[in-house]
This record gives sequence, C-alpha cells and structure tokens, in this order.
Amino acid sequence: MTGFVAEGVERVRREAPLVHNVTNLVAMTLSANVLIAAGASPIMSAAPEEAGELAALSGALVVNMGTLTRDWVEGAEAAVAGARTAGKPWVLDPVGAGATAYRREIAARLLAGRPRIVRGNASEILALERGASGGKGVDSTAGSDAAAEAAMALASRARAVVAVTGAVDLVTDGSRTFRIANGHPLLTRTTASGCALTALIGAWAAVLPDPLEATAGAIAAYGIAAERAAEIAQGCGSFVAALLDALGSLDGPTAARLARIA
Ligand code: ATP
Ligand code: MG
Ligand code: MG
Repeated sequence: MTGFVAEGVERVRREAPLVHNVTNLVAMTLSANVLIAAGASPIMSAAPEEAGELAALSGALVVNMGTLTRDWVEGAEAAVAGARTAGKPWVLDPVGAGATAYRREIAARLLAGRPRIVRGNASEILALERGASGGKGVDSTAGSDAAAEAAMALASRARAVVAVTGAVDLVTDGSRTFRIANGHPLLTRTTASGCALTALIGAWAAVLPDPLEATAGAIAAYGIAAERAAEIAQGCGSFVAALLDALGSLDGPTAARLARIA
C-alpha cells in the first residue's frame, strides 16, 4: 500500500530531478532548501525571457502565486507553456486564491493551463472551485474536510490531482482519494511550509508516473520529517533546521513504515 512512498523517497534522491520554481519571494529559500534536502535540484526563475526554456529542461515545474506582480504572471505563463509543449508535469500552488479578485482571476487563468497537480489549503481550494472569497490572507479559515467536495469537483473539472492540506491532508483525482495523517502543527508556525511542500511534490511528480501517488507520497514524507523534527526542535526556528535535517536523512523503508495514508 505504501510501497510508492519508499519508491518516491529513493528515486528523488537517486535521480535528483531538476525542478523549476516560479515561486514567491517569501518561499524561495525554504523551497530550494527542501528540494535540496530531499535530493532534488532546484532552479528558481520567473523571468519571462527564459521561463519557458527552463520549464522544458526540467523534470517538473512548480508555479506558486504567493507574491503576484504583472511580470511574475508573464513568467508563470511562459513557464506553463514551456512545460506543456515539452510534456512535463506542472504543479500549481494557488496561494491566497480567495483573498482578492486579482488572485482569483490569475488562479483561474493558470488553471486553464492544465496543471497535473493543484495543492492548496482548504480556503484556497474552495476559492478555486466555487469562485468565492475566503481565508485569512494566505491562511485557511476552513478545515480540509470542509473542502473535500470542492476538491473532488475541481479534480474532475480540471482533470488534475487536487491536494487539500491541513491537520489531515486529502488528495484526490476525482475518483480515488487518499487521506494522510502525518504532519505537525509547528508547520503552521513556519512561513512557506506549504509552498515548500508544493515544491517537493514537484520533485516527486518528476520521478513517479502516477500524480496521485506522487502527491500523497510527498505529503506523507514531508509530514513524517516534520514529526521527527518536532521531537528535537526547541521552537519554530530550530524546527525549520530540524525539518531539513530530517528530510535529508529520511530513507525509503522508514518513510513507508511511518506513512499514515488511508
Ligand atoms: P503556507 O502558509 O506555507 O502557505 P498552506 O496554508 O498553503 O501553507 P498548510 O495547509 O498549512 O499549507 O499545509 C502545510 C503543511 O502543514 C502540510 O504538510 C500540512 O500537512 C501541514 N499541516 C497544516 N496544518 C497542520 C496541523 N494542524 N497539524 C499537522 N500538520 C499540519
Ligand atoms: Mg498554512
Ligand atoms: Mg500556502
């Protein structure tokens, strides 16, 4: 049942996929560090002049709309076009999709570019599917179960895997659904922990052919690393360092054993 978790951990480390990130200014460092810790090779660029070329060269593309500007949107759309032409998987993180009309508009435009995977918190997934405003800035005001129906509808409509993260994470392709119970509340006390998880999902999508397994496996591995980090951390600051250490030392069989996927 969790064989794909071991396979994902090991293949990311062995194959070291290049992952192109069009991400936000806050998440840049943690996302790159999480990818490196897991064994992948990050590149961060949103320049429209090169984004398409980089996406085509990479194993996967991650697009995160955390700090939106006009230039960023141009870069993201060039990257998506490059990934699609090259047949590479791409992952959308619709940060704060419910916060403003501008974010809802850009999220809808990006969704039309056919991401293979969408990962957000409950408020973001509800906003994407229902067009409603909601959430507190980039934070969720709803639990993942409240967004379960919206996630399934969005997955069917967008023909993508949709992940709703929170205390329990839900991953669905519209017909099959996984629930993942790994993780630690300290992740919510650290900025960009969700963005960095989306980056890690990109690395998994580059090496595993099934996007549902790639998404669920990456979420479980990240949650397990967070649990182990919380055991030794003194607070939010040392937790981040311990999270990177735990991701770096996690092996496939341990990840498969500790994964709580139903
Ligand atoms: P960000 O603030 O970085 O944008 P996000 O809101 O997009 O984050 P979250 O839903 O907070 O994303 O999920 C980030 C990570 O934290 C996921 O791995 C998720 O499983 C975990 N997580 C979130 N809430 C909890 C919780 N209450 N208990 C355990 N783990 C949690
Ligand atoms: Mg959060
Ligand atoms: Mg987020």
